[in-house]
Amino acid sequence: MTPTPCPSCGQTMAKHRFARQLHGEVVLDICFPCQGIWFDEFESVQIAPGGIIDLFKLLHQHRDDLRQPLAEPLHCPRCRDRLLQGLDVSKLGGRFNYHRCLQKHGRFSTFGQFMIEKGFVRQLAPLEIEALAARVGIVRCNGCGAPIDIRHDHACPHCKAAIAVLDPQAVEQALARYQQAEVKRTTVDVEALGDAIVMREREKSRARRANTANDIGTLDVADLIGSGISLLSRLLRD
Ligand SMILES: [Zn+2]
Ligand SMILES: [Zn+2]
Ligand SMILES: [Zn+2]
Repeated sequence: MTPTPCPSCGQTMAKHRFARQLHGEVVLDICFPCQGIWFDEFESVQIAPGGIIDLFKLLHQHRDDLRQPLAEPLHCPRCRDRLLQGLDVSKLGGRFNYHRCLQKHGRFSTFGQFMIEKGFVRQLAPLEIEALAARVGIVRCNGCGAPIDIRHDHACPHCKAAIAVLDPQAVEQALARYQQAEVKRTTVDVEALGDAIVMREREKSRARRANTANDIGTLDVADLIGSGISLLSRLLRD
């Protein structure tokens, strides 16, 4: 298998296997620091919902990886051409963006945008953003990775992506359907999510202080989708 350089940072992406719809498996290239997935043509439509649950587990395992915003422009890992931003609408999750190669080599999606496409992430209403802003000031854009101050902005000022959270109900339904598991109900509203994020950020900065003395410049930015996955982690255990 040919190595795939990340369209954003150029590092070799990690290859992971996921269940394919109907049968077989699909190999996806993932960059955890950029939170991006490269799909060779048609790969994204082929990943089975059960495979998406595995993707959640993988994201949860990498929850403490260092994150970085996307580069501009992004380059196709196959031909090195600039990737073009595309916009689409998912019946399940709303508007999402991706970056595609004009020569049809494939497309690059962030985890957040991919989950909107698959209906696992929903966009927050203005009132919900205000409730969350009272607890968490700055969140990471699920489109481009830039920090967004949700006390002032209700969408990303750079890439226009909406503020979105993991939808626990959608995840539970998928779990029930594809693992035939008895699933416990969780009701995660935005205020509970806000509290959970604050606790997680506190834990993270405590861990950072314990580990490194020279990391004091790091901005604490809440990751709404990553935190949602953390909240659901007990559902995601095998
Ligand atoms: Zn990368
Ligand atoms: Zn290309
Ligand atoms: Zn953005």
